[in-house]
Amino acid sequence: MLLDGGRSTASYLLESEHGRTLLDAGPGCLLRLASLGIAPGSIRRVLLSHMHPDHHTDLLGLLFHRRNPSLQADLQPLTVLGPKGKLRDVYAAWCDVYGSWIEDESVEVMGLSLGSQDHEGFRFDAYPVRHSAPALCFRIELADGRSLAYSGDSEPCEGLSEACRAADFALVECSFPDDQACPGHMTPAAIRSLSLDVEPKRIGLTHFYPAMEAMLAQPDFVQQAFGDLPSEVLILEDLMEIDL
Ligand SMILES: [Zn+2]
Ligand SMILES: [Zn+2]
Repeated sequence: MLLDGGRSTASYLLESEHGRTLLDAGPGCLLRLASLGIAPGSIRRVLLSHMHPDHHTDLLGLLFHRRNPSLQADLQPLTVLGPKGKLRDVYAAWCDVYGSWIEDESVEVMGLSLGSQDHEGFRFDAYPVRHSAPALCFRIELADGRSLAYSGDSEPCEGLSEACRAADFALVECSFPDDQACPGHMTPAAIRSLSLDVEPKRIGLTHFYPAMEAMLAQPDFVQQAFGDLPSEVLILEDLMEIDL
């Protein structure tokens, strides 16, 4: 998700009975939404894993977009949920600089506690993860019992394992090859351990740094690296649609 391989940065759109939810809002997500014909004002909530720029800075563009007078009639109320403290700091700094260009009574910004949450019927759990900034991962439970896990950025840790345990689909970062492992991030070997330990039904790999992108280009990489796992493993691409 770092611009190589035709990918923009971290952002995933979840369509559910509780409206449209963005999981992170990295740079590029507004253009990707436009290419899908999805109006940014229709996004009901944004769930932010952490405040690194590749995960949240298109939120600023979304807030500005919502202030366009010609769009007011079609706006959904927007709730932004993310790590306590850092989210408040970033939003306050943006409001200080941009004022009424982004401030809007229909926008609510809320710091998240750990554990189970219910935002107007949209149910999810927030778990702490190990990363180079305060960060969360999420497990979302849909009304029909299906579950989606999202790692944000994390190295292997208890919170990530709990979020992914037997999930129907787990969106998991895979930033680096094993021989270039970097603290705070996942590698193919870590993905293998996660699959064997907690057995999500499907794992969608995402958030690739250049060395990992090069490895993905090798023929049969997925089959060789993950073919024997209990989880089906997919390499995610921008604009890919997954039915949970
Ligand atoms: Zn990060
Ligand atoms: Zn990242």
